[in-house]
Amino acid sequence: MWRIFAPPEHNHQKSQPMALRLVRTITELQHFADSIRAEGKSIGCVPTMGYLHSGHASLVSASASENNETITTIFVNPTQFAPTEDLSRYPRDFERDYTLAEEAGCTVLFYPDTAEMYPEGYSTSIQISGITEKFEGVFRPTHFSGVATVVTKLLLAAKPHRAYFGQKDYQQTLVVQRLNTDLNIDCNIIVLPTVREDDGLAKSSRNVYLSPTERQDALALWRALTAVGEAVSAGERRRDALNNVCRKILSEIPAGTIDYAAVARASSLDEPEKFTKGDSVVCLIAVRIGTTRLIDNAIFTIQ
Ligand code: AMP
Repeated sequence: MWRIFAPPEHNHQKSQPMALRLVRTITELQHFADSIRAEGKSIGCVPTMGYLHSGHASLVSASASENNETITTIFVNPTQFAPTEDLSRYPRDFERDYTLAEEAGCTVLFYPDTAEMYPEGYSTSIQISGITEKFEGVFRPTHFSGVATVVTKLLLAAKPHRAYFGQKDYQQTLVVQRLNTDLNIDCNIIVLPTVREDDGLAKSSRNVYLSPTERQDALALWRALTAVGEAVSAGERRRDALNNVCRKILSEIPAGTIDYAAVARASSLDEPEKFTKGDSVVCLIAVRIGTTRLIDNAIFTIQ
């Protein structure tokens, strides 16, 4: 299910704060979900890797406004990181996350350890073909299998009626929609807009890695997306021309390396030579600035 979220005028969770319950085991979470469902109440779930910011909070408060219970999960999932990636240095701050989640309207914080999620003997992984093989999948070949596996496990543990994901990880939202449909998980997958800093930089837990100069250079991602939007508005429909607009701006980042920067059909990630009027296209970007890898995207309608 796709739609744009309009923030509620009043968040009842904020005016009547409820104690945030901490759950560390899958069994306890499943019992909790069963009891809520037995009462005929609804559950929303927001999977995260923690180090929460206002992008995560927007998902939690959307869930809180639409469900009786909101389960936020915090798990830095090792299976979605390659050995060369930033698993060990991924930022963590549990106490801050607890407060932020509670303030946003979360009622249950699921915070398992790695042994709880992947105990001795664990042998199952979810592989999705097609959409996982492009863009992010080319540069991080094992990433989406790790994401699909952990999201499936979290949805089966939290048993939510609705699960909330950010457009910030656009290809991931397609992967999650795919597994939800293919595995009959029976959850509404809700995708909400990317929350940005005032200057356009997409909020990300990884932004803390950026030096002040890199932080400034990172604004090129937003400038590139804006320029592609302007080219689309001016009537450009050719894929190569749109890609060139995007790459030209990104190539100006001094210590930057473009992993990919391309427009594709928003629904399938197909890349026709030319789009037609009314097509919904996504511009997907992944850039490395120094040792930090940033991703961003925007969706446009071809004129
Ligand atoms: P992460 O903790 O980075 O795995 O992200 C957890 C969820 O928050 C994912 O669904 C992300 O797409 C979403 N998210 C991350 N950054 C943002 C943002 N700036 N705006 C909206 N959602 C976001």
